[in-house]
This record gives sequence, structure tokens and C-alpha cells, in this order.
Amino acid sequence: MTIIIFMYGLLLGSFYNVVGLRVPQGQSIVSPRSACPTCGHQLRALELIPVLSYLLQGGKCRVCKTGISPVYPIIEFLTGVLFATAPLVVGWSSELIIALTLISLFIIILVSDTAYMIIPDKVLLVFVGIFLLERLFIPLSPWWDSLLGAGIGFGLLLIIAIVSKGGMGGGDIKLFALIGFVVGVKTLLLSFFLSTLFGAVFGLLGMALKLVKKGKPIPFGPFIAIGTLVAYYFGDTIIQTYLNLFFT
Ligand SMILES: [Zn+2]
Repeated sequence: MTIIIFMYGLLLGSFYNVVGLRVPQGQSIVSPRSACPTCGHQLRALELIPVLSYLLQGGKCRVCKTGISPVYPIIEFLTGVLFATAPLVVGWSSELIIALTLISLFIIILVSDTAYMIIPDKVLLVFVGIFLLERLFIPLSPWWDSLLGAGIGFGLLLIIAIVSKGGMGGGDIKLFALIGFVVGVKTLLLSFFLSTLFGAVFGLLGMALKLVKKGKPIPFGPFIAIGTLVAYYFGDTIIQTYLNLFFT
């Protein structure tokens, strides 16, 4: 089962790459077929095998020998690993469907926000539809935790956007509203705290190591993805450990 789910992750990861790179550009996700950006050579089935094609071709286009970005196989592999490890955390339960959907959304955001600093509305809208349906059949307990989470996610981020005068993008606000709906209030708050923390640590380290230019905005999407996944997976453990440390 783990191997199968890993393979699905690899395949979907390759699709999410396409979605994350094309949707913000207003391009179709089905046509044209994937091609080498340098020589235009259309990729054949054997060149589209996730990770493996990249390794077999030595990271180069088979025709013109131009280097292919390692981001593609990395995203594919990451999706495979996240898919395969999800059941270890949430178990082989219906909640696994939610976990895999969250991972899918986050991979697309990781690609699009890193490439263009955009969290596309179209992508968010599709996932709103999917999550509404999923949470209808696999509700949080209590079910209204979803509505509260969405409201607080939207409100909290809107206030921060206003106070910080645009330090938070519109895409981030909508994304946190959706995350609140999926994970509920408690996990949402932890997710926001962790996302900000990870983003700040990365920003400070980046500036110290001169990898990030001061004043140049960093996409927040990837940190929201990591923060939320950590909060969603280990939220209860983190909160319990914190309470034990400071209140016993
Ligand atoms: Zn080529």
C-alpha cells in the first residue's frame, strides 16, 4: 500500500508541477504537451516518468542536452514522500483523504508561489469545492469548528494585512480561510504561529547568510504549507508538550 501511494504521489506531483507553473500564466494544464523549453522537443511517454526519466537522462534534455531544472524531480519526489508518510501520521482512515488533499494543495502553492509569488485564485477555488465536499462527509468534531476556523482564518489575516499595510498578500488571506475550514480553529492558530515563525527564521537566516536581499519579499506560501502540515500532524502533541513545560 505504501509503495502504491508513493507512486501516486510521484505521478500527481508531476501533474502539480504543471498546474503550479501554468495556471498563474493563464495557460491550459492539458495542452500543449510538455516540451523542452529550449529546443521545443515534445516529451514522449518514456521521458515523462517522474524522477526516473530525469535520472536516466542525467538531468538533460534527450535531444538538445540542455539541463532540466532539478525542481521538477524534487517536487515529484517530495509529493511521493509526503503521500507515503501521511498514513503513518493520520492512519488508514477517512481523514487520510483530507491529508492527501492538503498535501496536493500545498505542493501546487509551493510551485506557484516560489515561481511567481502568486497563490492562484483558480487553484484555491477548486480546492474550496473539494474540501467543502470532503468535510461534508468527513466532518471535524464539532462540525462548526470548520466555519469558525474559516471565519477566524480570514479575519485574523485581514487584520494583519491592514495593520502591516500589505505585508500579507490577498492570496495568503484566502488560503488561511480555507486552511481554517479544513483544520478548525485550534490547529489554524498553531498553523499561523508556526508559518510565521518558520518564515521569520528563514528570512533572518537568509539575510545573515546574504541569500535573501533585505526588503525583497519572500513568498509566504511555502511556510504556510510547512507550518500547517506540522500543526495538522503534530498539533496536539505540540500543544500538550508546551502546556507540560510551562504549566506543571
Ligand atoms: Zn531540448
